[in-house]
Amino acid sequence: MNAKPLIAITGASSGIGEAAAKAFCAAGHPTLLMARRLERMKALALPNSICRQVDVRDREQIKDAVREAEAAFGPIDMMFVNAGIARLADISRQPPEEWDEMIDINTKGVMNTVHAVLSGMMERRCGTLFMMSSIAGRKVYPDHTVYCGTKFFVHGVSESLREYLAPYDVRVVVISPGIVETEVLNGVNDPITLANYRTNKAAIDGGIGPEHVADLMLQTYNLPQRALVQEICITPTRQKY
Ligand code: NDP
Repeated sequence: MNAKPLIAITGASSGIGEAAAKAFCAAGHPTLLMARRLERMKALALPNSICRQVDVRDREQIKDAVREAEAAFGPIDMMFVNAGIARLADISRQPPEEWDEMIDINTKGVMNTVHAVLSGMMERRCGTLFMMSSIAGRKVYPDHTVYCGTKFFVHGVSESLREYLAPYDVRVVVISPGIVETEVLNGVNDPITLANYRTNKAAIDGGIGPEHVADLMLQTYNLPQRALVQEICITPTRQKY
């Protein structure tokens, strides 16, 4: 049996999810890594790690991966509900298919992921959910209309889950980063939106590294189970809004 419990991460193939996978693995945790790009996760070559090709829109795929990893490493003690896309665009120009994709991945995908571990954590009366929102889940930004909607959803659901799970000693931590240097902008198809975003980002000397978010997550997780950091809001120092 492992000394440290199993950690599961959706969206572990790049960015903040990848950084969290490395940080928790370095701290001695076995990990379940889930995303669509299997090769990217395998290339991390993390010890005590199971990589599974999972689309968070597919409830059964997540459940199967969870079942398999728990059979190998014991119960999942932390789920990082992280997978998400940002199809930022001017709302009047944006094809509705982009809303569908964001809503399916960033809201229904979040619920599918929570569902896969919720009853187990309640039964064990232990566990931690890290819910990836954004500073765009606290306030609105130009061309972030539906993206903000999905992240406000994560905030709302997380508040409700935190209240519901408190008597079970299950912690719910919302993560609300500002600009982080990842591949997230690859999902922006509107050239004007993308150019504006890049200009704004350059004006503050870029985003922070994903490893800073991962470090804070690890510190937060390592607090005693009865101590809960309800929200982590981390931005570049120069990001005023
Ligand atoms: P990346 O694009 O680097 O990472 C996104 C991750 O989500 C990838 O691993 C991707 O894997 C995964 N993913 C996307 N769609 C799916 C899907 N349908 N099923 C499974 N996995 C999926 O960007 P970030 O690391 O920045 O993004 C991580 C989270 O952080 C997102 O929720 C994002 O909204 C949020 N965030 C990011 C900020 C930033 O400035 N970077 C700021 C605030 C919040 P794959 O494509 O292989 O499936």
